[in-house]
Amino acid sequence: MAILENPITGIPTLKNYIDGEWVASRGELVDVVNPATLETVARVPISPADEFDAAVRAAQAAFDDWRRTPPLARARCLFRLKELMEAHFEELSRIQTVEHGKTIDESRGETRRGIEMVEVATGICSLMMGNNLEDVASGIDEYLIRQPLGVFGIIGPYNFPCMVPLWFIPFALATGNTVVVKPSSEDPLSQLKLVELAEEAGFPEGVWNVVNGGRSVVSAMLAHPDIKGVCFVGSTPVAKEVIYPGCGRTGKRVIAQGGAKNFGLVMPDADLPKTIAGCMTSFFGNAGQRCLANSNLVVVGEGLSASEHEAYYQEVVEAFVAAARQITVGYGLDEAVQMGPLRDPGKKANVERYIAQGVAEGATLCLDGRAFTLRGDYPRDAFLGPSVFVDATPEMTIAREEIFGPVATILKARSLDEGIAMIHASPFGNAASIFTGSGKWAREFQYRVQCGNIGINIGLVAPMAFFPFSGMKDSNIGWMHGQGQDTIRFFTESKVVIQRWF
Ligand code: NAD
Repeated sequence: MAILENPITGIPTLKNYIDGEWVASRGELVDVVNPATLETVARVPISPADEFDAAVRAAQAAFDDWRRTPPLARARCLFRLKELMEAHFEELSRIQTVEHGKTIDESRGETRRGIEMVEVATGICSLMMGNNLEDVASGIDEYLIRQPLGVFGIIGPYNFPCMVPLWFIPFALATGNTVVVKPSSEDPLSQLKLVELAEEAGFPEGVWNVVNGGRSVVSAMLAHPDIKGVCFVGSTPVAKEVIYPGCGRTGKRVIAQGGAKNFGLVMPDADLPKTIAGCMTSFFGNAGQRCLANSNLVVVGEGLSASEHEAYYQEVVEAFVAAARQITVGYGLDEAVQMGPLRDPGKKANVERYIAQGVAEGATLCLDGRAFTLRGDYPRDAFLGPSVFVDATPEMTIAREEIFGPVATILKARSLDEGIAMIHASPFGNAASIFTGSGKWAREFQYRVQCGNIGINIGLVAPMAFFPFSGMKDSNIGWMHGQGQDTIRFFTESKVVIQRWF
């Protein structure tokens, strides 16, 4: 069995990157553990607030020169960064597998998406252009320009340690702002690799800073008078109770993208083999630790008799379970593996609690991921196989709450209306999919469903870098999103100039 080489050598003590320097932190050190092998791969500091303050001072000092740097010159740094990310593509991807646990193919997909953010941001000269209108009154012209604001704080989640901060960083920098990034302390290594590449790409000192840490860094960010805005991606309680009100108190701009519970509706005319193949990636990719993961599959009986609906439900369940059983679980650096571990044993225990609760509430566990075959000789502590519940109702905990693990619940709805009502009963609104050959049903679904990302015969609805990464209701507290044009508006202030010609 060929295991790819781990690019991290020794057990480095990670540093902060402030004002173009690697700075040792005084903070307590916490182990970063590879969840597949349970080996410590690095030690990350939980930085105190004054170290964050030093990063903001550096970013503030760098701002004036950086905003005066022509947009095309700023874009050149991004072009060089893109080239360096391509050159280090495999290393960046393997780091993610080691720090997070996802399979190497999932990590490569994440790196590719991250590069695409940088590529789109290189178009800043067009993206940031203002507009004008002459003769708004006789002899008077009016025009709008977009200007950067200053220093932005960026807070990442653990499930996409490399890509998610890149929903923001390239756009913030391209528009002329400076940043202080706080990666997830659970898997901060790929963010530190990225800033190492940024240094090589020629970003000036102080423009891109990274401070490792946890809540104390976030609190300092929310309170800091020189932080103009915060971009957060993580769980709904933190988005709703900490980030959004914290930014409100100090009048900062905020993007606060939260958790999810996504539904897929299978209509009677769906192409079943393609639907099931799409569902495997969507339900079990990244071991279910995706805000876009489908979690509830609803078999819809629109136009079918009760007995036909029941037979169709059984057919979908059989095909789904048969495919889920085939998923190879193991270490992500083994290229034959299709599903890696959960990020840590504690997260596995949390998913196991949901499985036990599903059983206790009366759903049938027809595939039990707690009993699984592990490829290779690794500690089983963070691994789980795919689980599938049937005969569940939408009121059950497993069908309502974000499990964030490889657990699928297969439900029934008599009609498309009933399926959409189930989606709307959820407080979340991140993504939803419909599998159907009918244009009418697909149109109805995309028109009515209150979710930010809609899939039509697509299980994993991940928008490209030039579209916003949308989300509604409890999945997006606030109204702006990462990626694309939304970020250009978020990272700039519109200024209107009215000019009289003498
Ligand atoms: P999390 O909310 O626990 O942590 C996110 C970040 O906030 C981390 O950097 C963490 O250090 C910090 N943090 C955690 N608790 C905090 C607190 N009480 N006060 C201040 N800061 C705090 O989220 P996570 O577990 O890292 O990530 C998983 C969650 O992120 C899931 O709910 C998932 O759905 C969500 N997510 C959403 C999207 C989206 O686009 N909507 C994308 C990816 C992940």
